[in-house]
Amino acid sequence: MPGFELFGDMERREVQKVLDSGVLMRYGFDGMRNGQWKARELEKALAERMQTRHAQLVSSGTAALTVAMASAGVGAGDEVILPTFTFVASFEAVLALGAVPVLANIDDTLTLNPESVRQAINPRTKVIMPVHMCGSMADLGALSEIAREHNLLLIEDACQAIGGSYAGKPLGSIGDLGCFSFDYVKTITCGEGGALITNNETYYRHADHFSDHGHDHKGSDRGAEGHPFLGYNYRISELNAAVGVAQIKRLDSFLEIQEQNYRILEEAIRDIPTVSLRRVPQSGIQNYSFLNFFMDTGAMARKAHKALLEAGVDGCFYWFDNNWHYHRKWEHLKNQVSLGKLPQEVQDRLSGMEDQDFSLSDQWMGKAISVLIKIGWSENEVTTRASRLQKVLKGL
Ligand SMILES: *Cc1c(COP(=O)(O)O)cnc(C)c1O
Repeated sequence: MPGFELFGDMERREVQKVLDSGVLMRYGFDGMRNGQWKARELEKALAERMQTRHAQLVSSGTAALTVAMASAGVGAGDEVILPTFTFVASFEAVLALGAVPVLANIDDTLTLNPESVRQAINPRTKVIMPVHMCGSMADLGALSEIAREHNLLLIEDACQAIGGSYAGKPLGSIGDLGCFSFDYVKTITCGEGGALITNNETYYRHADHFSDHGHDHKGSDRGAEGHPFLGYNYRISELNAAVGVAQIKRLDSFLEIQEQNYRILEEAIRDIPTVSLRRVPQSGIQNYSFLNFFMDTGAMARKAHKALLEAGVDGCFYWFDNNWHYHRKWEHLKNQVSLGKLPQEVQDRLSGMEDQDFSLSDQWMGKAISVLIKIGWSENEVTTRASRLQKVLKGL
């Protein structure tokens, strides 16, 4: 998955242009910048690639989630439905707004189970946030329908699935808003950075202002710009954006390599009787950043994970035991361990999460294993890896 594997001359050239101009900020300094507007350039390229009207760059994927929700009016006490399998960033972004993360079960897609989402909806629910984990997507058809039915926002976290699609549309472009991360380990990177995409003019305008202290970006004098509402600073720097300008041009070639490597590994394991592949929703196309599969039992999966690592198959994950991506280890969230006080309303509604029944999630996650697909592997590395994977899983 990581774009940093193929980081090189193209990225260096774009960064050099920014260094030569000396303007490291994305706004203002028009006269000094030698026509270099890297953040704008990347926003244009991203919107085009994702077939949306707008893209707004921000400082991280986490920031993209916060800004996306804020731009659509999510605030204190609003409930956001998230899957039990995601990166901690998802609930951090919600808490940053004084809103309340509500966890719902996953299914054999390793993403939100639409039925569990239905059960989690109440009058305070404002957002359904599917997270397209490990390269594949949630059932966006079913989730869009639920969102429409209950008049909820659908905000896609596509941080781990950039380049994938559903029903012919790029992931991230299907919900009201979609979010990407360009941190150092994602499919394409800016070093640090993120973006939201949307077709909604108002959300875009809000995101543009909100991520820059509320600046309305009207006129040429930053000091004289208006502040129609409160904002924060979630800006990306020109240096980071410059890296992304080069990387997005390479996205489709990265995806091609990723898919090739994925297919070789998939081929090696698909006929093993104790292995079944993760379900990809109908009309969905993965970005192939991970190979995800289930073993017949949880005990087998744990054993397989250990054996794979011992056999030198690195980048192999048993998420069930992972600190950062699965609800079982989120005791800091469940016990509300926060440096300062959380809003009373958030405290009240987080209490009880500890006792929530996530056995449906545990059932699937307990059996799941993911193997990271790298794009820098040589042919020999891929085939060696494929045969090791096959040997270990067959021998269990
Ligand atoms: C990486 C990631 C994020 C956060 O992105 P950052 O740029 O690291 O803040 C959010 N959600 C998911 C699913 C991610 O993988």
